[in-house]
Amino acid sequence: MKISPNAQRFIDQEARYGAHNYHPLPVVLQRGEGVFVWDVDGKRYYDFLSAYSAVNQGHCHPKIVAALCDQAHRLCLTSRAFYNDCLGPYEEMATKFFGYDKLLPMNSGAEAVETALKLARRWGYIHKGIPQDEAIIVTCEGNFHGRTITIVSISTDPDSYSQYGPFTPGFVTIPYNDSEALRRVLEQKGDKVAAFLLEPIQGEAGVYVPDDGYLKKCYDICKEHNVLFIADEVQTGIGRTGRLFASDHEGIRPDIITIGKALSGGVLPISAVLADDEIMLTIKPGEHGSTFGGFPLAAKVAVAALNVIKDEHLTENAEKLGKIFREEIARINSPFFKSVRGKGLLNAIITEPQGDIEAWDICIALAEKGLLAKPTHRHIIRFAPPLVITEEQLREAIAIIKEVFESMPYADNQ
Ligand SMILES: *Cc1c(COP(=O)(O)O)cnc(C)c1O
Repeated sequence: MKISPNAQRFIDQEARYGAHNYHPLPVVLQRGEGVFVWDVDGKRYYDFLSAYSAVNQGHCHPKIVAALCDQAHRLCLTSRAFYNDCLGPYEEMATKFFGYDKLLPMNSGAEAVETALKLARRWGYIHKGIPQDEAIIVTCEGNFHGRTITIVSISTDPDSYSQYGPFTPGFVTIPYNDSEALRRVLEQKGDKVAAFLLEPIQGEAGVYVPDDGYLKKCYDICKEHNVLFIADEVQTGIGRTGRLFASDHEGIRPDIITIGKALSGGVLPISAVLADDEIMLTIKPGEHGSTFGGFPLAAKVAVAALNVIKDEHLTENAEKLGKIFREEIARINSPFFKSVRGKGLLNAIITEPQGDIEAWDICIALAEKGLLAKPTHRHIIRFAPPLVITEEQLREAIAIIKEVFESMPYADNQ
């Protein structure tokens, strides 16, 4: 891929002065609008990553940016030492929107998951009567819940946990998409299990969609053993999979839900935990918090971002266009193409590497043709455009993807 001197300057600067904890595709972006981003040389791309589903509402949505700018001039941060006139309205709007008694505001997705783990342990001690410091939380292999020490303690990806130990105890990890494994653990240790934590679709692992009925079965098993069902919907939530929550596909209502990413439409890091009173009120003043959590700017942005989801029918659009995407992509005729899977507009193409050409090289070729997507692992490419994409734009993007797959291999992969 040809990199202009203009772009190379920024790439070199990051390499020289920034920590090397990411390996980006060599494009340097400068501007975004809706489904498109432009690089420093003015080239336009379809954004099929959407910042890992944070930009469901499209880049720089005018209503969300207006809410941000308007509030930024008025009041940004008070801390929770005082009340402000934004947080209450946001909490009322969001709990009614999502259908839970209470919301606990945080900033990053990882913090929302940490909060959910604290709530689950608290509930386990206070309401279930688990002996002090013996609570267990069951998690799934292949999970991605963030990057804190406790969260990487439950990761099964060596890149995430190697040489970060010692790890937080109190977790049991079982295979994903195996409800019998959950049943066995709960039959053995159910008395001490406070919660089962999972992603309804495993995003970072490569858009692993479990079998139909899996979530419902797990939910029912949890209920039999008085165990909380926690859905980490940081990536799958807020319309992405064609339902408000991916859990809605199986008609279950998790006891605790974590949300983040698209809660701000990509404008600020905003996350939250949703739960009913019995769980949420186990944490009392002074026992958990965050300087920025629920700050006035975030509160105003989140309300605007959720209104865009509703007013522009983005959930319905994800459902409809996701079907078209998978139908059309399944027709690709290329040795590099193996299969496509996903729900709504959270999809992945499973590639079949040929020689030393793998998913990364396909993503480079896609970028050259004006479409950005990122490989996850060596052979999976996630395709998750902003939910504001129109059918016409989607069909144009599909044509680019087809063309790239059907004309690989590219000689030029440096
Ligand atoms: C991205 C993600 C997180 C972590 O969110 P951060 O804001 O990066 O901390 C947690 N859970 C899931 C399912 C995610 O996809």
